[in-house]
Amino acid sequence: MPSYDPNNIFAKILRGELPCYKIYEDDKTFAFLDIMPRAPGHTLVLPKAPARNMLDVAPEDLGHVIGVAQKIAKAGMKAFAADGITIQQFNEGAGGQVVFHLHVHVIPRREGVPMKPPASEKEKPDVLADHAKKLVAALAAG
Ligand code: 5GP
Repeated sequence: MPSYDPNNIFAKILRGELPCYKIYEDDKTFAFLDIMPRAPGHTLVLPKAPARNMLDVAPEDLGHVIGVAQKIAKAGMKAFAADGITIQQFNEGAGGQVVFHLHVHVIPRREGVPMKPPASEKEKPDVLADHAKKLVAALAAG
């Protein structure tokens, strides 16, 4: 497996070199909206520590990421009146991974509404800002 590339796009977001719609941050974990959401509220949860994917991440960092993914899943249910949540996580190109800093997708779902194809359409900034506001408020409400 290739080594971690510190210039991947999510590493740049983590360092604040590129913008994002932030949803959550703690000492080990960072979460922001997917810029091409497969459904409203599609969030990516990352460890702050460098890890290419599930195959090289430290187990404790992975544990934190999964705990935060659960928080965001619960908030997504409320914020988007969702009927369910899809969790996705891809490893290496052959596994469907495109950006090589570990991330877990948390995608609120509505009954009978199919997800958009991956990376199909960049969402409008005002829509993303509104979705981020809703998710952050639902997280704060607990
Ligand atoms: P994966 O590596 O799990 O296949 O997917 C990478 C995800 O990152 C895709 O869902 C894609 O829409 C998202 N993505 C790609 N570039 C950016 C970006 O610059 N900002 C954000 N927020 N998401 C991105």
